[in-house]
Amino acid sequence: MQNRLKTMNYDVNENGYYGEFGGAYIPEILHVNVENLRNNYLKILSDPSFQEEFNGLMRDYVGRPSPLYLAKRLSEKYGAKIYLKREDLNHTGAHKINNSLGQVLLARRMGKTRIIAETGAGQHGVATATVCALLNMPCFVYMGALDVERQHLNVQKMEMLGATVVPVHSGNKTLKDATNEAIRDWCCNPEDTYYVIGSTIGPHPYPDMVARLQSVISEEMQKQLLEHEGRDYPDYIVACVGGGSNAAGAFYHYLHNDKVKLIEAEAAGKGIDTPYSAATIHLGREGIIHGCRTLIMQSEDGQIEEPYSISAGLDYPGIGPIHAYLAKTKRSTVLAITDDEALEAAFLLTKIEGIIPAMESAHALAALEKLTFKPDDVVVVNLSGRGDKDMETYIANQK
Ligand SMILES: *Cc1c(COP(=O)(O)O)cnc(C)c1O
Repeated sequence: MQNRLKTMNYDVNENGYYGEFGGAYIPEILHVNVENLRNNYLKILSDPSFQEEFNGLMRDYVGRPSPLYLAKRLSEKYGAKIYLKREDLNHTGAHKINNSLGQVLLARRMGKTRIIAETGAGQHGVATATVCALLNMPCFVYMGALDVERQHLNVQKMEMLGATVVPVHSGNKTLKDATNEAIRDWCCNPEDTYYVIGSTIGPHPYPDMVARLQSVISEEMQKQLLEHEGRDYPDYIVACVGGGSNAAGAFYHYLHNDKVKLIEAEAAGKGIDTPYSAATIHLGREGIIHGCRTLIMQSEDGQIEEPYSISAGLDYPGIGPIHAYLAKTKRSTVLAITDDEALEAAFLLTKIEGIIPAMESAHALAALEKLTFKPDDVVVVNLSGRGDKDMETYIANQK
């Protein structure tokens, strides 16, 4: 039989595009920086001494490989073999540290001496501040003033780790405004500063670089599935998508294997037919945001709309260009999960498996309700993070 995917290419092309999505739309002043990164990232990532350093810290500091856990009671409930890829067990509690560690090591090799980052809920900020403490690099984290208030514990963690948190008072005082301010900083300090982007977004080469750094997730899955199941691929991979980094990492080594169905769970908020949603792939239209062409939540006249989700990590108004392309070519299936569906899935996992998931990851778990499985199907849900940070939400919504 013809393998349809052999003729498709889901890797980034040399200009940074996935189909019509991606590219590098940046101010002139950043051209040298982005060009420099683009000319060096593949060389550095594949350098044996970089790999030795990165893999060593991933093992001994982050705690990798993360387990692939066969969730028996969840499997019984859904009538398939459901595995959880336990990114929640990583140091700092989510997949984000994989990316921060890789980028800060890379920055150091490029001779950069100052790290900046943007953060929404503070998870990427904490991961980056953690790595900067480890590697003794000064770290500045831009964060919307509203988020600084809402996510105070993460602000205190970043400060304890030695980072400077810069509150941003422009716009809606949330992630989009923090990102604009981080870009402004980078423009002013192109020589010594490296900008660590937290997801598969931004100008090329960031989306590809972040996907490669997170691809350790699917690399480990291949080995672990071979051990558990005697074959190195599952029938389904389910992941939540905010900017798309944990999904890109979980899909990476399976993009061109058409036996593997890729399921993306995006945040529907209060519903895709209400004004309170973050379902960018369902509702977005093409445009340019933070350096790349992708789908964006925008009004009729092209103003970026503030997304809404109960989960702070999923309310980005854009989506990684790779995911816009996977959805457009129907390589992936995108499901919109409401706040209530995600909450229910979080309480279920806690009750029957003894694992409190991050609110974001609960969106991926809720997708299981919308899929029909055969008893022999092997399903991997990427459990992107743990729920400690979401306890207030869970307590407020307990039934
Ligand atoms: C930030 C975050 C996400 C969303 O980011 P992606 O880049 O889409 O992976 C998902 N889960 C957790 C636990 C997060 O912290």
